[in-house]
Amino acid sequence: MCGIIGYIGSKPATPFLMEGLRRMEYRGYDSAGIAILDGATLVTRRAAGKIAKLEASLAAAPVAGHVGIGHTRWATHGPPTERNAHPHLSADDTVAVVHNGIIENANALRTALQDTGYVFRSDTDTEVVAHLVQELFDGSLEEAVIMALRKIEGTYGLAVVSSRDPGKIVVARKGSPLLIGIGEHEHFVASDASAILAHTRQVVYLDDGDVAVLEADGYRVLDIDALPLTRKVDKIDWELGAIERGGFAHFMLKEIFEQPQTVENTMRGRLIVEDGTSKLGGINLTHDQLMAIDNIIITACGTSWHSALIGEMMIEELCRIPVEVEYASEFRYRNPIVTDRTLCIVISQSGETADTLAAMREAKRRGARTLGLVNVVGSTIAREDDGGIYLHAGPEIGVASTKAFTSQVVALALFTLKLARKRGLSVTRGMEFAQALAALPAQIQQVLDRAEQVEHIAAEFKRAPNFLYLGRGVNFPVALEGALKLKEISYIHAEGYPAAEMKHGPIALIDEMMPVVFVAPHDAVFDKVVSNVQEVKARKGNIIAITSRDEPALQGLVDYEFRIPETVDLLTPILASVPLQLLAYYIAVQRGANVDQPRNLAKSVTVE
Ligand code: GLU
Repeated sequence: MCGIIGYIGSKPATPFLMEGLRRMEYRGYDSAGIAILDGATLVTRRAAGKIAKLEASLAAAPVAGHVGIGHTRWATHGPPTERNAHPHLSADDTVAVVHNGIIENANALRTALQDTGYVFRSDTDTEVVAHLVQELFDGSLEEAVIMALRKIEGTYGLAVVSSRDPGKIVVARKGSPLLIGIGEHEHFVASDASAILAHTRQVVYLDDGDVAVLEADGYRVLDIDALPLTRKVDKIDWELGAIERGGFAHFMLKEIFEQPQTVENTMRGRLIVEDGTSKLGGINLTHDQLMAIDNIIITACGTSWHSALIGEMMIEELCRIPVEVEYASEFRYRNPIVTDRTLCIVISQSGETADTLAAMREAKRRGARTLGLVNVVGSTIAREDDGGIYLHAGPEIGVASTKAFTSQVVALALFTLKLARKRGLSVTRGMEFAQALAALPAQIQQVLDRAEQVEHIAAEFKRAPNFLYLGRGVNFPVALEGALKLKEISYIHAEGYPAAEMKHGPIALIDEMMPVVFVAPHDAVFDKVVSNVQEVKARKGNIIAITSRDEPALQGLVDYEFRIPETVDLLTPILASVPLQLLAYYIAVQRGANVDQPRNLAKSVTVE
């Protein structure tokens, strides 16, 4: 979602802020702005739309200064206009604030401030913070911010500067990610490590409730009573290349093509083929705890929810433990049945997804043990879960998730294998599954080597207004994920359905205009899928099939076919999802859509 960046040091702040904003563009935003302190003069620049607009305004009238904060906004309160773009200034123009999140009591605070004479210049909830800090200022910016925070309800990542106490940036976090970057006589603040990776790898991840004061030569972390706290310094271990496009037209394409390596990285040091099991150091579950699990709940949102559905089938099939998959946003607001023998698996690429985090906290409160499947190291879910499996897929910049999805499925497969072997799966079957996992990177490469075939299919269907994706069993979630990818980046309406369920409604939509994608590898339900293909063909639908071998039964029925390598049934989703990612990508590109920054979407959804 929105991105916060801040710089304090001896160099001009503007280039750092603009670079940071650019690197966070992928998170999704609708307007941007910066505030710079030049000595005791505070100057802001804001623009609606692309960061290039802000750059143009800065090129026309540069802003000098060594302290500054910047923001890319994802509007929650008020339209994405220049007047609503952050930073927001206090009434006397001495305080500038950038904010990620939602101030829930903004209306009450606004009325109270208006009653004492404050005039508001935006529709945002954020502006109240700027006026409050002005109102409460008595010589020290951090004290004023802390007093303001005591009056605020809601979620925030905040960065504040003031011309009345220059030489520092005060930041605070509750519910929105924020980290401090430590440089040589300079410090940074950012929502996301990628924003500052080019300048430092030493970071401090702030916890909820932390306030920090950044100066050129140091930083202090405080609690809400202004008492000092110690926070550990972490090292970011990705290479800069991981957050650059490296010759690919889009981040999404780069990430699709990285999957042989990312899937390998998820398994590295964990898969033990010869024993048909896996070693998962971080799950923090003893043998007895694994044996005591009565039921599993997997909770997630979006693409991660699709990987959860695949996980459900793997775990139930091989471990014989009941699994329930639930949208995190639903789970958190109902009265789920959770006991101390429930394992709650939470899945989130960013580790910051607001609903997933809240669902995990709720499961914990109810006594479940929690296991986080997260890509971003040091993220909130990774720090709060009882145990976890990092995906190790590297930074995912494309808003439409690809490599994180396949790594989530692989991580679920590794966990399934470990649990299944404890709960009675034979070594022979364990080895068969482990061997199939080990073969995946090379098999994904075989799929990618034929990407051009998918590009041709895309050209045939790029003008279709609707798409239907059908699959059965473990490939039903693949149909859902294929449809979601297409919707997200091409804006074509697409639906995923269990292939047989299609008869109970969606079949009414089928005519010669409707492309229908069948996920039909040669698995246990293949013959059933063939019947569903027949039903669609009888109604003149256009059929694109993802198959895994030469299928005489499909001859004459299928208009376009893409072949994936064979694997064990439960792992077919990993191979079948790759051509569907490519199909969505090529269709979107051919329609001229902005693949890496699809409209209205944000990468890491940190509001509920
Ligand atoms: N609620 C604030 C606004 O609408 C911040 C949104 C954001 O996180 O970008 O301006």
